[in-house]
Amino acid sequence: MAYDANNVFARILRGEIPCKKVYEDTHVLAFHDINPQAPVHILVIPKGAYVSLDDFSARASDAEVVAFTRALGEIARAQGVDRSGYRTLANHGADANQEVPHFHVHIFGGRRLGRMISKG
Ligand code: AMP
Repeated sequence: MAYDANNVFARILRGEIPCKKVYEDTHVLAFHDINPQAPVHILVIPKGAYVSLDDFSARASDAEVVAFTRALGEIARAQGVDRSGYRTLANHGADANQEVPHFHVHIFGGRRLGRMISKG
């Protein structure tokens, strides 16, 4: 799947759309989800143009992968959910209902989150 440079997270990265930023470094941006599903619902995205985890895992540099992983833990600690617990989630493609085609990891926390997924 080709990267769509007009997806909403690409527009946030270009500053064309505002976001409620919680973290930024050379490779990573994180902000509050616009439609939070838990008291803590943060989206963590790479600044590079990657469609999904599939794309990021195949093409991202070691520096990007390390920065992204470090940021996930740092953001969760900064949000105060490292002790109470949290969930990370990355949707890839149609079966996972990925809505925004720029790789992102959700961090959910601040309440009991229930079981992983429904049987559907
Ligand atoms: P996914 O289904 O994993 O692609 O999730 C996309 C997420 O992006 C959803 O939870 C949306 O609520 C969120 N979202 C969409 N537009 C924005 C935006 N402008 N700012 C923050 N979050 C957004």
